[in-house]
Amino acid sequence: MKSHTDYLTFNTKNKIEFINITSKIGEAVKKSGIKEGLVLVNAMHITSSVYINDAESGLIHDFQQWLKKLAPIDISLYKHNLTGEDNAYAHLWRTIMGREIVVAVTNGELDFGPWEQIYYAEFDGQRSKRVLVKILGE
Ligand code: ZN
Repeated sequence: MKSHTDYLTFNTKNKIEFINITSKIGEAVKKSGIKEGLVLVNAMHITSSVYINDAESGLIHDFQQWLKKLAPIDISLYKHNLTGEDNAYAHLWRTIMGREIVVAVTNGELDFGPWEQIYYAEFDGQRSKRVLVKILGE
């Protein structure tokens, strides 16, 4: 079995940003030379997520509104922020939106459903953060 590891680095302009990383993951699969296997993609920080869903701008807006309703950004609501941090909402959002995704690699390509796209969701950005890409197969 072969394996290939990549690290993507993000330093977003905004504190909250959703970035379509599907083509970057496709490039990593090509680079790996693996034709049949699995790719794991995970956010290496506890205030950002990697998830799969539609690349539709209305939906990306809807995700943000939904998260703000579930866990408002208001720092006065959270005990975590008593430590001097201001990112409790971002930890909660990460848990809801998930840490990682796994996609099958078939014939050297990401084997998606019709509208599936891979997103990096930053909830507490404006600093350097990493995403792990691990590809396993033959
Ligand atoms: Zn924190």
